[in-house]
Amino acid sequence: LFISIEGPDGSGKSSAIQGLATRLSQDGFDLVLTREPGGSPIAEQIRQVILDVNNTAMDPMTEALLYAAGRRQHLKDTILPALAAGKVVISDRFVDSSLAYQGVGRNLSQTDIWNINQYAIQGHLPDITLLLDVPAEVGLKRIYQARNQRQFDRLDQEDLSFHNKVRQAFLDLAADQDRIHVIDARQAVDQVVEDAFQVLKSSGLLY
Ligand code: C5P
Repeated sequence: LFISIEGPDGSGKSSAIQGLATRLSQDGFDLVLTREPGGSPIAEQIRQVILDVNNTAMDPMTEALLYAAGRRQHLKDTILPALAAGKVVISDRFVDSSLAYQGVGRNLSQTDIWNINQYAIQGHLPDITLLLDVPAEVGLKRIYQARNQRQFDRLDQEDLSFHNKVRQAFLDLAADQDRIHVIDARQAVDQVVEDAFQVLKSSGLLY
Protein backbone atom coordinates (compact mmCIF):
# COMPACT_ATOMS: atom_id res chain seq x y z
CA LEU A 1 0.00 0.00 0.00
CA PHE A 2 1.29 3.41 -0.99
CA ILE A 3 0.33 6.34 1.24
CA SER A 4 1.42 9.93 0.65
CA ILE A 5 1.22 12.71 3.21
CA GLU A 6 0.85 16.20 1.81
CA GLY A 7 0.47 19.68 3.20
CA PRO A 8 1.80 23.21 3.16
CA ASP A 9 4.99 24.19 4.98
CA GLY A 10 4.52 23.97 8.74
CA SER A 11 1.60 21.56 8.51
CA GLY A 12 3.44 19.13 10.79
CA LYS A 13 3.88 16.29 8.33
CA SER A 14 7.02 14.91 9.96
CA SER A 15 5.53 14.66 13.45
CA ALA A 16 2.29 13.23 12.12
CA ILE A 17 4.17 10.62 10.11
CA GLN A 18 6.20 9.59 13.16
CA GLY A 19 3.04 9.19 15.22
CA LEU A 20 1.22 7.31 12.50
CA ALA A 21 4.21 5.05 11.90
CA THR A 22 4.40 4.14 15.59
CA ARG A 23 0.74 3.22 15.58
CA LEU A 24 0.86 1.19 12.37
CA SER A 25 4.02 -0.64 13.47
CA GLN A 26 2.28 -1.62 16.71
CA ASP A 27 -0.43 -3.16 14.56
CA GLY A 28 2.20 -5.24 12.78
CA PHE A 29 2.54 -3.40 9.49
CA ASP A 30 5.95 -3.46 7.86
CA LEU A 31 6.61 0.18 6.97
CA VAL A 32 8.96 2.10 4.74
CA LEU A 33 9.09 5.83 5.51
CA THR A 34 10.40 8.03 2.77
CA ARG A 35 10.26 11.64 1.64
CA GLU A 36 10.45 14.06 -1.25
CA PRO A 37 12.30 15.79 -2.64
CA GLY A 38 14.74 12.92 -2.23
CA GLY A 39 14.04 9.45 -0.92
CA SER A 40 16.86 7.58 -2.68
CA PRO A 41 20.58 8.36 -3.12
CA ILE A 42 20.27 9.90 -6.60
CA ALA A 43 17.01 11.64 -5.73
CA GLU A 44 18.70 13.11 -2.62
CA GLN A 45 21.41 14.54 -4.90
CA ILE A 46 18.69 16.13 -7.00
CA ARG A 47 17.14 17.48 -3.78
CA GLN A 48 20.39 19.26 -2.95
CA VAL A 49 20.32 21.04 -6.29
CA ILE A 50 16.65 22.01 -5.96
CA LEU A 51 16.87 23.28 -2.38
CA ASP A 52 20.31 24.96 -2.67
CA VAL A 53 19.67 28.50 -1.47
CA ASN A 54 22.39 29.76 -3.82
CA ASN A 55 20.44 28.58 -6.84
CA THR A 56 18.34 31.73 -6.91
CA ALA A 57 18.50 31.80 -10.71
CA MET A 58 16.78 28.46 -11.12
CA ASP A 59 14.06 28.67 -13.71
CA PRO A 60 10.67 27.42 -12.41
CA MET A 61 10.35 24.96 -15.29
CA THR A 62 13.81 23.59 -14.57
CA GLU A 63 12.74 23.21 -10.97
CA ALA A 64 9.55 21.40 -11.97
CA LEU A 65 11.51 19.01 -14.21
CA LEU A 66 14.01 18.30 -11.44
CA TYR A 67 11.19 17.48 -9.03
CA ALA A 68 9.71 15.11 -11.59
CA ALA A 69 13.12 13.54 -12.29
CA GLY A 70 13.78 13.03 -8.58
CA ARG A 71 10.33 11.53 -8.16
CA ARG A 72 11.01 9.05 -10.94
CA GLN A 73 14.23 7.89 -9.31
CA HIS A 74 12.59 7.78 -5.86
CA LEU A 75 9.80 5.62 -7.26
CA LYS A 76 12.18 3.18 -8.98
CA ASP A 77 14.75 2.90 -6.19
CA THR A 78 12.61 3.03 -3.07
CA ILE A 79 8.85 2.96 -3.52
CA LEU A 80 8.27 0.24 -6.10
CA PRO A 81 10.72 -2.28 -4.56
CA ALA A 82 9.11 -1.76 -1.12
CA LEU A 83 5.62 -2.23 -2.53
CA ALA A 84 6.77 -5.36 -4.36
CA ALA A 85 8.03 -6.71 -1.03
CA GLY A 86 4.56 -6.19 0.46
CA LYS A 87 5.49 -3.22 2.61
CA VAL A 88 3.41 -0.17 3.45
CA VAL A 89 5.12 2.92 2.04
CA ILE A 90 4.51 6.31 3.61
CA SER A 91 5.96 9.15 1.57
CA ASP A 92 6.29 12.67 2.98
CA ARG A 93 5.10 14.46 -0.20
CA PHE A 94 4.60 13.10 -3.70
CA VAL A 95 3.03 14.26 -6.95
CA ASP A 96 0.40 16.55 -5.38
CA SER A 97 3.17 18.76 -3.97
CA SER A 98 4.33 19.45 -7.51
CA LEU A 99 0.83 20.31 -8.65
CA ALA A 100 0.45 22.71 -5.71
CA TYR A 101 3.96 24.24 -5.42
CA GLN A 102 5.23 24.20 -8.99
CA GLY A 103 1.85 24.32 -10.74
CA VAL A 104 -0.02 26.89 -8.71
CA GLY A 105 2.68 28.37 -6.43
CA ARG A 106 5.08 29.07 -9.28
CA ASN A 107 2.33 29.84 -11.79
CA LEU A 108 3.17 27.06 -14.21
CA SER A 109 0.47 25.26 -16.16
CA GLN A 110 -1.23 22.57 -14.07
CA THR A 111 -1.64 20.51 -17.23
CA ASP A 112 2.08 20.68 -17.99
CA ILE A 113 2.97 19.71 -14.42
CA TRP A 114 0.50 16.86 -14.56
CA ASN A 115 1.90 15.68 -17.89
CA ILE A 116 5.56 15.67 -16.90
CA ASN A 117 4.65 13.88 -13.71
CA GLN A 118 2.54 11.31 -15.51
CA TYR A 119 5.58 10.63 -17.65
CA ALA A 120 7.71 10.29 -14.52
CA ILE A 121 5.43 8.07 -12.47
CA GLN A 122 3.75 6.02 -15.23
CA GLY A 123 0.48 5.69 -13.35
CA HIS A 124 1.95 4.90 -9.94
CA LEU A 125 -0.17 7.28 -7.89
CA PRO A 126 -0.54 6.76 -4.14
CA ASP A 127 -3.44 4.53 -3.09
CA ILE A 128 -4.42 7.16 -0.57
CA THR A 129 -3.24 10.67 0.28
CA LEU A 130 -3.68 12.50 3.56
CA LEU A 131 -3.63 16.27 3.22
CA LEU A 132 -2.64 18.01 6.46
CA ASP A 133 -4.33 21.34 6.08
CA VAL A 134 -3.28 24.52 7.89
CA PRO A 135 -3.81 28.17 7.03
CA ALA A 136 -0.59 29.73 5.73
CA GLU A 137 -0.18 32.03 8.76
CA VAL A 138 -0.38 29.11 11.16
CA GLY A 139 2.09 26.98 9.20
CA LEU A 140 4.59 29.78 8.71
CA LYS A 141 4.38 30.89 12.33
CA ARG A 142 5.17 27.34 13.43
CA ILE A 143 8.24 27.35 11.23
CA TYR A 144 9.47 30.75 12.38
CA GLN A 145 8.76 29.83 15.98
CA ALA A 146 10.74 26.61 15.70
CA ARG A 147 13.68 28.48 14.19
CA ASN A 148 13.79 31.58 16.29
CA GLN A 149 11.15 33.16 18.48
CA ARG A 150 12.12 36.68 17.44
CA GLN A 151 11.42 36.11 13.77
CA PHE A 152 7.83 35.45 14.69
CA ASP A 153 6.52 38.77 13.40
CA ARG A 154 8.54 38.78 10.24
CA LEU A 155 6.13 36.89 8.02
CA ASP A 156 6.27 38.90 4.86
CA GLN A 157 3.38 39.30 2.47
CA GLU A 158 5.15 37.54 -0.36
CA ASP A 159 5.63 34.43 1.73
CA LEU A 160 2.10 34.61 2.94
CA SER A 161 0.45 34.96 -0.45
CA PHE A 162 2.65 32.22 -1.97
CA HIS A 163 1.77 29.83 0.83
CA ASN A 164 -1.91 30.76 0.73
CA LYS A 165 -1.96 29.90 -2.96
CA VAL A 166 -0.26 26.58 -2.27
CA ARG A 167 -2.69 25.77 0.53
CA GLN A 168 -5.68 26.54 -1.66
CA ALA A 169 -4.20 24.46 -4.48
CA PHE A 170 -3.98 21.46 -2.15
CA LEU A 171 -7.59 21.96 -1.05
CA ASP A 172 -8.74 22.22 -4.67
CA LEU A 173 -6.94 18.97 -5.51
CA ALA A 174 -8.61 17.31 -2.53
CA ALA A 175 -12.03 18.55 -3.64
CA ASP A 176 -11.37 17.04 -7.05
CA GLN A 177 -10.01 13.65 -6.12
CA ASP A 178 -11.42 10.94 -3.86
CA ARG A 179 -7.88 9.70 -3.23
CA ILE A 180 -7.09 12.80 -1.15
CA HIS A 181 -8.47 13.16 2.40
CA VAL A 182 -8.22 16.44 4.29
CA ILE A 183 -7.15 16.45 7.94
CA ASP A 184 -7.31 19.55 10.13
CA ALA A 185 -3.66 20.06 11.01
CA ARG A 186 -4.31 23.06 13.27
CA GLN A 187 -5.07 20.45 15.93
CA ALA A 188 -2.49 19.02 18.34
CA VAL A 189 -0.24 16.36 16.82
CA ASP A 190 -1.92 13.51 18.75
CA GLN A 191 -5.28 14.45 17.32
CA VAL A 192 -3.87 14.79 13.80
CA VAL A 193 -2.40 11.29 14.15
CA GLU A 194 -5.71 9.96 15.47
CA ASP A 195 -7.63 11.51 12.55
CA ALA A 196 -5.09 10.17 10.05
CA PHE A 197 -5.39 6.71 11.56
CA GLN A 198 -9.20 6.82 11.40
CA VAL A 199 -9.13 7.89 7.75
CA LEU A 200 -6.82 4.98 6.91
CA LYS A 201 -8.97 2.60 8.89
CA SER A 202 -12.23 3.64 7.29
CA SER A 203 -10.68 3.53 3.81
CA GLY A 204 -10.63 -0.25 4.18
CA LEU A 205 -7.21 -0.36 2.52
CA LEU A 206 -5.28 -1.48 5.58
CA TYR A 207 -7.69 -3.16 8.00
O1 C5P B 1 8.38 18.83 3.09
P1 C5P B 1 9.55 19.74 3.31
O2 C5P B 1 9.24 20.88 4.22
O3 C5P B 1 10.80 18.99 3.69
O4 C5P B 1 9.87 20.36 1.87
C1 C5P B 1 11.04 21.09 1.65
C2 C5P B 1 10.76 22.39 0.92
O5 C5P B 1 10.56 22.17 -0.47
C3 C5P B 1 9.56 23.10 1.45
O6 C5P B 1 9.92 24.42 1.74
C4 C5P B 1 8.57 23.08 0.31
O7 C5P B 1 7.92 24.30 0.25
C5 C5P B 1 9.42 22.86 -0.93
N1 C5P B 1 8.78 22.04 -1.95
C6 C5P B 1 8.43 22.59 -3.18
N2 C5P B 1 7.87 21.81 -4.16
C7 C5P B 1 7.66 20.49 -3.94
C8 C5P B 1 8.03 19.93 -2.71
C9 C5P B 1 8.59 20.73 -1.72
O8 C5P B 1 8.61 23.79 -3.39
N3 C5P B 1 7.16 19.75 -4.92
